[in-house]
Amino acid sequence: MTERLHSFFAGRWRDASGPEYTTEYPHDGSAVASLNATTADDVHEAVEFAERARLQPAWAGLKPHERAGMLYRMAQGIRERAEDLARLQRLDNGKPVKECRALVASAAGTFQFFAAAAETWEDAVTPSRGDFLSMSVHEPLGVVGAITPWNSPIASEAQKIAPALAAGCAVLIKPAEITPRMALELARIAQQAGVPDGIVSVLPGKGSVAGDALVRHPLVKRIAFTGGTNVGLGIQRLAAEKLMPTSLELGGKSPTIVCADADLDHAVAGVLFGIFSSSGESCIAGSRAFVHQSVYEEFKRRLIEGVRRLKVGNPASEDTQMGPLVNLGHRASVERYVALGLEEGGRLLVGGQRPQGAAFEAGSYYLPTVIEGLPNHARMCQEEIFGPVLALLPWQDEADLLAQCNDNVYGLASGIWSRDYKTAWRIGRALEAGTVWINTYKLFSISTPFSGLKMSGYGQEKGRQGILHYTRQKSFYWGMNESPLPWAGQ
Ligand code: NAD
Repeated sequence: MTERLHSFFAGRWRDASGPEYTTEYPHDGSAVASLNATTADDVHEAVEFAERARLQPAWAGLKPHERAGMLYRMAQGIRERAEDLARLQRLDNGKPVKECRALVASAAGTFQFFAAAAETWEDAVTPSRGDFLSMSVHEPLGVVGAITPWNSPIASEAQKIAPALAAGCAVLIKPAEITPRMALELARIAQQAGVPDGIVSVLPGKGSVAGDALVRHPLVKRIAFTGGTNVGLGIQRLAAEKLMPTSLELGGKSPTIVCADADLDHAVAGVLFGIFSSSGESCIAGSRAFVHQSVYEEFKRRLIEGVRRLKVGNPASEDTQMGPLVNLGHRASVERYVALGLEEGGRLLVGGQRPQGAAFEAGSYYLPTVIEGLPNHARMCQEEIFGPVLALLPWQDEADLLAQCNDNVYGLASGIWSRDYKTAWRIGRALEAGTVWINTYKLFSISTPFSGLKMSGYGQEKGRQGILHYTRQKSFYWGMNESPLPWAGQ
């Protein structure tokens, strides 16, 4: 049965004023929920309400430990509803239930971490250079916007809402049109945790309408964006016109390097996980695997065996490793990239088609795919596919390897498989990537900052310093000298 959802802004649960639309379960295309899209007028109303709400004593008057209390309660609220949230997340984007549980757990951890950061944050008394006391304090930026993609909604939304609330801001979330559910549930949990109405708002709908209006609004003082590079560039251009800070978490085409001395079983498992978990719909997917020539054939044999063993299927099943892609349109885009790779001269090693059988007919399924024989400059090796497609490339010379890895507009993540810590360190330092995983992949911790380089974006999320992005700094000088200032007093 299709569930009716309501937006949450300007202090109440309500229907937005735009057209009604329906979200679909990627497993079988069935309708999951219907809701109304947010219009630019709705955004204006929401922002103005949020601005008033954030200045009320019920929010502005809270001490950091009191705000932290709300964030702790949000972490608790997420944990209490963990299984239900994982189910709703799965219905929105078709991720396997185990991955959805991990995302929900990470969101709870994010609120807990920023609660701790909020109540232990210390402003600085700076070293005095005269008869005065100098200090620098952080104040909330004001109303901020969070714009998120469909692939890991609850985690990327928590990473923006938690530091924003910790800093004392009001936050308006524009989730991806097709995955509005997690943001709405987080708003509900915030309300139950005692966060005043207007401090967390959710504006589902089109990026070109609701997202654009949010970015342009003069009262919006920051945008935290996760999504594609082209959209991020457009947001950055608009932000420049009002000197608005942004953080942009954008696309990737991450290399994974297998060295001659790698533990091949670990490397194969890591490369499989790096590209095929989340069906490759991951900004940090390890989509280019560079394997040393001396172990290339053996690695390839084990990799293909591993791909054939992967369990592709219903995302509700506990043993499913790869669910469907997010929708039929996105699958068509992945298929075009595979066709392009083959036209460019690539050889298909495994996959390259939809899985067969009645169970897969209605969903947007695609098999894990490996292609070899392409040069790194081929389009299939350069552009983000955001699907389960791995390019396998041999390497021999380290300098040439590094040149190829870095020869890409993106610089988000990377992986190195080697038993020699000196090799791993040397390669890791030379890679142009915001994150380097050594003998592991896709490991994350909320305490460690995350950011891309080059066209993968800038401006960190996560890490204790994450709060600072939602504050402005103000400096104070307290004169302690009882005599008049020398110039004025002569
Ligand atoms: P997208 O850029 O199409 O959309 C992201 C969000 O931006 C959505 O909420 C969308 O509605 C909104 N949007 C679209 N046009 C807009 C506009 N003109 N103004 C304001 N907002 C607008 O991305 P997507 O297809 O939802 O997600 C996939 C992309 O996200 C991939 O490129 C992926 O690499 C990237 N991503 C990056 C990270 C990271 O941390 N670096 C994490 C996850 C996903």
